[in-house]
Amino acid sequence: MIAFEEALRRVLAETRSVEDVVLLRVGDALGRVLSAPVMAAFNVPNHDNSAMDGYAVNCGDLSARESTTLTVVADLPAGARLEQPLGAGEAIRIMTGAPIPPGCDCVVMQELAHRVDDRVTIPPGRVPGENIRPAGEDIRAGSVVLPKGCRLRPAHLGLLTSLGFAGVEVFRKPVVALLSTGDEVVEAGEPLLPGQVYDSNRTALRAALLALGVEVMDLGLVRDDREAIARALALGGARADAVISTGGVSVGDHDLVKEVLQDQGAIHFWQVAMKPGKPQAYGQLGNARFFGLPGNPVSGLTVFLLIVRPALLRMMGALDEPPRRMRASFRGTLNKKHNRMDFLRGVARFDESGVWVETTGPQGSGILTSLARANVLIVLPEEPVRLTDGDDVTIQWIEHD
Ligand code: AMP
Ligand code: MG
Repeated sequence: MIAFEEALRRVLAETRSVEDVVLLRVGDALGRVLSAPVMAAFNVPNHDNSAMDGYAVNCGDLSARESTTLTVVADLPAGARLEQPLGAGEAIRIMTGAPIPPGCDCVVMQELAHRVDDRVTIPPGRVPGENIRPAGEDIRAGSVVLPKGCRLRPAHLGLLTSLGFAGVEVFRKPVVALLSTGDEVVEAGEPLLPGQVYDSNRTALRAALLALGVEVMDLGLVRDDREAIARALALGGARADAVISTGGVSVGDHDLVKEVLQDQGAIHFWQVAMKPGKPQAYGQLGNARFFGLPGNPVSGLTVFLLIVRPALLRMMGALDEPPRRMRASFRGTLNKKHNRMDFLRGVARFDESGVWVETTGPQGSGILTSLARANVLIVLPEEPVRLTDGDDVTIQWIEHD
């Protein structure tokens, strides 16, 4: 048995990004990962422009002590440009976003100016640069705007478009093969005989994989039969970048996944000092990483969140995103006696007194409602701990995308 932190460290250390790159339209690239940094080809904004509706003037024309009256010689809506420089004693009516005409160094906001016909009177105290958004204020030409490994969110797609990009190069999606094992497991829609359970693992994990943004190869539901498991793992190992199975990695007579993995590939570790999720096998199948998750629904999904997900993010080429952890005040009482790290399912709330958390109730690894109701995992250290109302604990947000 190895420590949770050690298991995570080893898995991450052995995981490489895919290399193949595809070109997508920017609008189709949501959730994809940049395969190269994005550089700005021009300044944003492109020109010095007005931050206000008002009058563009030259401060040199204005008296320092009293109001100055200027002649309005042109009208400049957003999108229009004026090439002709401003003359002495002149002002230009300008709208927000319009480029600053040559010879102007300040925009006087409309509310300060007094306009009568083509004459405008401006109070003293204006300074150069007032109400001007300088070119490159947002982005400088040539600067790196988004790093390699950036997972593209809506604002990133908007940014790419504002920089004139119609297409973007991203890593291909890793292919992740997924299978369930167990003689007692049946497909939804079939009748449930005594002793059987529906295959909730494959539904939940497939959804988690899709939310993350990988391609899922469904290897189906496989009997606890050495040949059948061997066939499924061989297929996954040959075609996928990662293979995820559930069930069959414990110490029972029918836990064959581990044995087949040993025959066809290699086991790098088995059993992790965590709860839920102690029986799990990690290894290699051909070119694919193999994650043998426990059959218990809570355990499988928790190990996915804590270990598999960060590894798949690396495989997608994404920059590492440290788990979102914070401190919270515990509500209730708890006596943890075992020597494994514990990841209790919890509900965290924010209120005037800060962040507090309570467990979702019974924590058995088969109790999927405990995870369905949770928004955080309460992270407890390996050592035994007693918790009472108000104790400080670490929580980790349950993130899927
Ligand atoms: P195992 O790890 O194969 O010993 O399975 C542990 C527990 O998880 C057993 O109670 C199984 O019935 C249950 N289980 C295994 N696979 C699934 C699955 N795909 N969906 C729901 N429960 C499962
Ligand atoms: Mg089983």
